[in-house]
Amino acid sequence: MSSDENTPVLRGCIKLPLANDELLEVTAKAKDYALMHGAAMRSKTAFSPDSLNFAPFVLVPSSFPRKEFEKAIALQPIINRLMHNVAHDEEFITTTLAETIKVDEFTANLFNIYRKVLAHGFTQRISLGMLRSDLMLESCCPELSPMLHRVTNVDNNKIAASAAAAAATAGGGGGGGGGNDNNGDVDAVMAKGKAAAEVDKVGIVRTVSANKSAYCCWKQVEINTIASGFGHLGPASKTVQSFVLRELGHAEKLKHMPKNDALAGLCDGMVKAWEIYAKPQSVILFIIEDVSYNICDQRFHEFYIRETYPHIKVLRRTLTEVHREGKLGQSKELLLGTTEVAVIYFRAGYEPAHYPSQGEWDARYLMETSLAIKCPSIHYHLAGTKKVQQALAQPAVLERFINDPEEIKAVGKIFTGLYSLDDNEVGNANYEMALRTPEKFVLKPQREGGGNNVYGVDIPDALKRMTRVERSAWILMDLIHPPLSQGYMVRPGTEMPPQIVDMVSELGIFGVVIGDADNIVHNYQAGHMLRTKLSTANEGGVAAGLGALDSPYLI
Ligand code: ADP
Ligand code: MG
Ligand code: MG
Repeated sequence: MSSDENTPVLRGCIKLPLANDELLEVTAKAKDYALMHGAAMRSKTAFSPDSLNFAPFVLVPSSFPRKEFEKAIALQPIINRLMHNVAHDEEFITTTLAETIKVDEFTANLFNIYRKVLAHGFTQRISLGMLRSDLMLESCCPELSPMLHRVTNVDNNKIAASAAAAAATAGGGGGGGGGNDNNGDVDAVMAKGKAAAEVDKVGIVRTVSANKSAYCCWKQVEINTIASGFGHLGPASKTVQSFVLRELGHAEKLKHMPKNDALAGLCDGMVKAWEIYAKPQSVILFIIEDVSYNICDQRFHEFYIRETYPHIKVLRRTLTEVHREGKLGQSKELLLGTTEVAVIYFRAGYEPAHYPSQGEWDARYLMETSLAIKCPSIHYHLAGTKKVQQALAQPAVLERFINDPEEIKAVGKIFTGLYSLDDNEVGNANYEMALRTPEKFVLKPQREGGGNNVYGVDIPDALKRMTRVERSAWILMDLIHPPLSQGYMVRPGTEMPPQIVDMVSELGIFGVVIGDADNIVHNYQAGHMLRTKLSTANEGGVAAGLGALDSPYLI
């Protein structure tokens, strides 16, 4: 989609292709290993509540620049605090969503709940945020481009020359060239461009530059504040790929795969909220869809809590069931029958189909007005909308939520261009810009869960079908151009052995934040997940069928 023959390629963690016999054997083993370690899902095409398929996965981990990974991890607590502050800024949320809710019924319904809760006062002042900030590397980023080269066509002279040239411009543009394997690249470059560049063992040419620490070469795709999934499947991907690397005789490479305690980090967040609620008999309630395809991810959260904290019970209910069974007690505690709910973890409720009737909306409102600690509470949900993301990326807006100028700078750098399509002068100019150069953009509505965006050349038609006011339900975003990686993608029911394909990855960093309008009591980074899709696909939802589980191999 956003890639072409000039897109840079990240060198893989091992040399490919594998010999056919070895590939067949290790893939068959890895499929079973994935199934038997819960890297699995329920099938959408052949659904049965009693069976699982392994989740699609990439055979060996995909490369990710270590510096960028570490920066993303370090930034997460700042993003947590930002989102917490945004969620508690009534004026900002109200003005930002004012045009959108006129035309987007779903967001308007959420906003109505918010408005009613504001009018009556919050029963529970504490919120539990379990966020996931999603990011992609931007290979067009001027700082990153000298570090990335196509790795086809071995030509050490070219590598050295281009690396030296890139270093000479110190961050100002990229070069061509490349090398196909590790042999000799380092020596060639070090000999020819010694002071200027280094090539690491995996083939990325790194320019030595004075302001290396100022690089920010990943961009935020979005931030999720509801149902941020893959707390289990993230770490499970690492388990599967570690097994594969060991089977292939590369145990020494495991040290390049960062630790990932996402499941523990997220579950501990729920437990901390449960402790704040401080009633020993109360339970944690998971709000689920009518059918949970991503069942392993959800159940492993539940099982982790039950195994680590056996005194805390976990219940699962749909919104429809909460509508039927739920009521408020004397102090507005949420009761399911006689069971009191301390914490509500929404794994559903983020798309219109989860609310087939008014009953589900009533259930959401009931929960919102209850004493239970919500993940997310309604203001956190609204803070995660694309419209709010777009508003945050406007000049000087971050200053409203972050005090430290260094932090403002660091967060500002991860934003791509984000543009309003509200019916006013700015929005109309952005509309014209989208019609002129649609290939530069993604058009996004206020939806979650994948499959809702419009890309590139499809944008003009989509926009022209809307009235001026209808456009304000959407935002426009610069397309990010991630570098490619090459590897084997393994999917249930597909031909064996798998073929080598071009792929791009999206890294999600989890964050947990707990607090009220005045104080934050817990704020930490909570692990990560990596999803990888074919480079030709617009979107890479794993459950949706285009993406695959992956984990980063730091280079
Ligand atoms: P959702 O909330 O539905 O997941 P996203 O904003 O994450 O919506 O978009 C879905 C997918 O679309 C992403 O996972 C990514 O693959 C792709 N995508 C979104 N924004 C961009 C962008 N600016 N550049 C390139 N791809 C994008
Ligand atoms: Mg989302
Ligand atoms: Mg997304």
